[in-house]
Amino acid sequence: MARDFYETLDVSRDASKEDIKRAYRKLARQFHPDVNKESGAEERFKDICRAYEILADDELRSRYDRFGEAGLNGAGAAGFDSSGGFGDIGDIFESFFGGFAGGATARRGGPMRGDDLRFDLTLEFKEAIFGGEREISIDHLVTCDTCRGSGTKAGSGPVTCRTCSGQGQVRQARRTPFGLFTQVTACPTCSGTGEIIENPCPTCNGRGRVQRSTTIKITLPAGVDSGTRLRVQGEGDAGMRGGPSGDLYVYLSVRPHPVFRRDGNDLSSIIEVTYLQAILGTTLKVETVEGFQDVDIPAGTQPETVLTLEGKGVPRLGNSTRRGNHYLLIKVIIPSKVSGEERELLDKLASLRDEKIAKKEGLEGLLDSIGNLFH
Ligand SMILES: [Zn+2]
Ligand SMILES: [Zn+2]
Repeated sequence: MARDFYETLDVSRDASKEDIKRAYRKLARQFHPDVNKESGAEERFKDICRAYEILADDELRSRYDRFGEAGLNGAGAAGFDSSGGFGDIGDIFESFFGGFAGGATARRGGPMRGDDLRFDLTLEFKEAIFGGEREISIDHLVTCDTCRGSGTKAGSGPVTCRTCSGQGQVRQARRTPFGLFTQVTACPTCSGTGEIIENPCPTCNGRGRVQRSTTIKITLPAGVDSGTRLRVQGEGDAGMRGGPSGDLYVYLSVRPHPVFRRDGNDLSSIIEVTYLQAILGTTLKVETVEGFQDVDIPAGTQPETVLTLEGKGVPRLGNSTRRGNHYLLIKVIIPSKVSGEERELLDKLASLRDEKIAKKEGLEGLLDSIGNLFH
């Protein structure tokens, strides 16, 4: 049984969009299958993505609030298997709304839209930042070439279903403690189509569609992130009886990077400098997502200082000319051991300071000679 989406994200039912986003980010990071190898983490990650997908969308969230998961009617990710799951959900809606949800699928012999499909794709860190193209191979139902989707053998046609006399629906009266309920369900003989194929097409066994593996090229926009969902129109399952194809939804997750951390459109990394570099200043080659670049570490840089490389972060999704920043956190490394020579110089420096006779140039000269030990 699926958990409540609010519970999954550990937020209250009146949580703001910001709260939901924050909770999602935190959990997605924690349970991402690339990071978390515990059993069940991947399932949990998928649940988290699914919950976020619904709760982040105003319309889906309000439908979910009013009707629960049944109200989503297959929107977004998981959808449901129309052969097994549909009946129950159809029943619920039939009883309450008189055919609201069931209509599209159970309509007698009418066109039926194909199911949406989900594909999970893991991207490399920089691929997500700069975008690109990817070929993916998907299994989906396509219209049968032999019968062009009719499901019938050449020269024959469908006949009216005898169970429902072509209505596509059967009515059942059921006595309950609350009174008599009339339930309308899809006809089990013809699955609601109102017609039966007596001479089925041999290629598709009368289904009108066949499973096929297709390679499609998808364009990844710059700035996508874990949880981003791309819609590829018409690449879901083929429709039936002339109905449109469903869509393919590509759910992205991004592999973490050993050097960079990402927070929205900003990046951060840690830079280590020696205590002498921090005191005297230096220029370092620093790794950015575009390669190495020179960064000036000013003299007198304090531990935990944050330097900003403006516009070196992640492009905004949909407006890639605007980019976030890359923040460099400076770690000053204090050696736990020093060589004899270095120690001598440091002692001398200490005593100079103690005697308060150290002139500025004198100190710097000494620090430079310690610095030279490293070169
Ligand atoms: Zn066929
Ligand atoms: Zn029937």
